[in-house]
Amino acid sequence: MRSYVPAYDLRVPATLEEALALIAESGGSWRPFAGGTDLMVLLEAGKLPQTRYVSLRGLDALTGVIVSKDEIVVRALTTYAEIRGHDELAREFPLLGAAARETGGIATQNRGTIGGNIANASPAADTPPALLAYDASLDLVSVRGIRRVPMLFQHNPSEPVGIWLELREDHRGLFARGRLIPEVARGRELLSLLRAGAIDGLSIGFRTSKARIDPKTRIRRIYAVDLWEISIVTFPMMDLARIAPGQTGRRKARLDRSLEAAISVFKL
Ligand SMILES: Cc1cc2nc3c(=O)[nH]c(=O)nc-3n(C[C@H](O)[C@H](O)[C@H](O)COP(=O)(O)OP(=O)(O)OC[C@H]3O[C@@H](n4cnc5c(N)ncnc54)[C@H](O)[C@@H]3O)c2cc1C
Repeated sequence: MRSYVPAYDLRVPATLEEALALIAESGGSWRPFAGGTDLMVLLEAGKLPQTRYVSLRGLDALTGVIVSKDEIVVRALTTYAEIRGHDELAREFPLLGAAARETGGIATQNRGTIGGNIANASPAADTPPALLAYDASLDLVSVRGIRRVPMLFQHNPSEPVGIWLELREDHRGLFARGRLIPEVARGRELLSLLRAGAIDGLSIGFRTSKARIDPKTRIRRIYAVDLWEISIVTFPMMDLARIAPGQTGRRKARLDRSLEAAISVFKL
């Protein structure tokens, strides 16, 4: 048994906004504390160097499983016990339920959260493989809001035409899956143009965060960029950056019948 525990601070904010503000203003010295199943093991082992924690427990904005027509949102504080007991998740994503059932014992399943399992980034974690298999996407939230990459038409900031639902790197480069919004006039036009094969280019807008110009050759090498937006364009800078109609993901059969589904997968 450990007889000495150094001073730890635990703040309990009432809202997600308060929690995010605390995390932002401290430059990373306050860390989220969810179920504590990973953190308490480290504490017990005397290997928890960080001493300032923000409790996420009870924050409404991070609680619950939200089911809508197109997707199921599993919020960060959802526990393994909640995943196991959720009928729709069990039906649509049985592997996720299986991962939750295999995780620890009942006590761990009652406290441990899916957000903590992802953030902890253990190579042995059980939920990430299931989430990857189902093409799940992650919303990252900070004081600046949910990080979303806009879907524009021809890089025009005043022409947003849809939303990107998923971004990841695959063997070819950046894979983006998105949905045009048919209620937007340009989005509707693009649906028709895409279906007719009249337009299929993609192009990214980015801000360079790390680059160097070779003084001899004057060649500029870009090492890191912030992805700013992804546009549907007539002339892509890279010829291979194209839209591939089709779709993956949940409720395939239902979506297959809809117009949106015909173009809901884009390859860049
Ligand atoms: C006995 C036991 C058995 C276990 N068995 C398994 C198993 O079989 N499979 C498995 O995968 N895991 C297992 N675990 C690990 C653990 O239960 C999971 O990783 C759990 O999901 C972590 O969630 P938590 O809410 O408890 O995270 P916490 O311990 O509160 O936090 C873990 C880390 O994630 C960060 N964090 C938490 N929530 C968020 C958030 N919303 N946003 C950003 N960062 C966040 C914290 O700052 C911390 O760095 C086991 C743990 C124990 C104690």
